[in-house]
Amino acid sequence: MFDPNALLRPHLKNLVPYSSARDDYKGSEGVFLDANENPFGSITDENWNRYPDPYQKELKSAIAQIKGVPAENIFLGNGSDEPIDLLYRAFCEPSKDNVIINSPTYGMYQVSADINAVEVKEVLLTENYDLDVPAISVAVDANTKIIWVCSPNNPTGNDFTLAKIESLLSTFKGIVVVDEAYIDFAERASFAEKLAEYPNLVVLQTFSKAWGLAALRIGMAFASEAILAIMNKIKAPYNLSGLTQRTVLEALKNATDKDAMVAEILANAKELKAALQQLDVVEHIYPTDANFFLVKVKGARALYTKLIEQKIIVRDRSKVVLCSDALRITIGTKEENDKLVEALKNLRN
Ligand SMILES: *Cc1c(COP(=O)(O)O)cnc(C)c1O
Repeated sequence: MFDPNALLRPHLKNLVPYSSARDDYKGSEGVFLDANENPFGSITDENWNRYPDPYQKELKSAIAQIKGVPAENIFLGNGSDEPIDLLYRAFCEPSKDNVIINSPTYGMYQVSADINAVEVKEVLLTENYDLDVPAISVAVDANTKIIWVCSPNNPTGNDFTLAKIESLLSTFKGIVVVDEAYIDFAERASFAEKLAEYPNLVVLQTFSKAWGLAALRIGMAFASEAILAIMNKIKAPYNLSGLTQRTVLEALKNATDKDAMVAEILANAKELKAALQQLDVVEHIYPTDANFFLVKVKGARALYTKLIEQKIIVRDRSKVVLCSDALRITIGTKEENDKLVEALKNLRN
């Protein structure tokens, strides 16, 4: 049976975590002289003088309702970047353990590994941007702790074959992270439904994309209680600000607005694809399950620079492995997409 404590870095086994001033008293009424807060209030109109809930219980129970994931299986962080970093700090011994990434993929898995002095084994996706499971099996060794699976994948846009992800979950002895930052744009169900089946599964989602809350910095990790107990032990005590917790709790009441925006983005994607296909500079538009297209063009770097001169900013991925001459284009509003297409038409001349 999988036990994350067997993967834990040795020095964390006996860690005594920070105990917050309010760990022993859960009530909201009382004379609070325990946390050296300002008793009068704040210098702002609204009061922020009390420390926020370190475990974000109210917010988690609201998210549990919306996501259909029990609150005990939810971790909230300062963006998805926080759980990514915590997983390294919990399970990967610097200069000893390693992880596997499936390239081309999201850059933070590598950057966070570099910051933590953890070796990254890079396995390339297949020609049609799917997981190369046999190559992953070859790369795995006794010190491999995490396999990063980004699906739908950034920057290619596609979901991987779900049976391949499941085969990793059922055969790999370490942790498989399925990063679903773009799940709201995909048609499939979340891997969060399979938490009970796979104790080594961590699902990442975020409020930064479909929900339109990137500046608030809030990401989610769904995992077993055993994995989350470890993450909670090593996180900063007050990792989500009171402002973020309150704002997101309010925002969750407008979930239907999110659905409407997603529907509009998906409709715009169809139109943008049709328009891009007409252009001479466009060689190939890769299929997407996300809110962006990877587009192979003639002379990506030059196009990118010329677009910037017109204040149209796309992402140049042409230096990324398997992405030569590719730009990553986020689906914008209809007006923004029209401007992009117009600019590309004129640049041809
Ligand atoms: C955008 C993105 C995220 C989100 O990161 P946050 O820190 O939550 O803003 C996570 N994973 C992938 C693959 C992304 O593209």
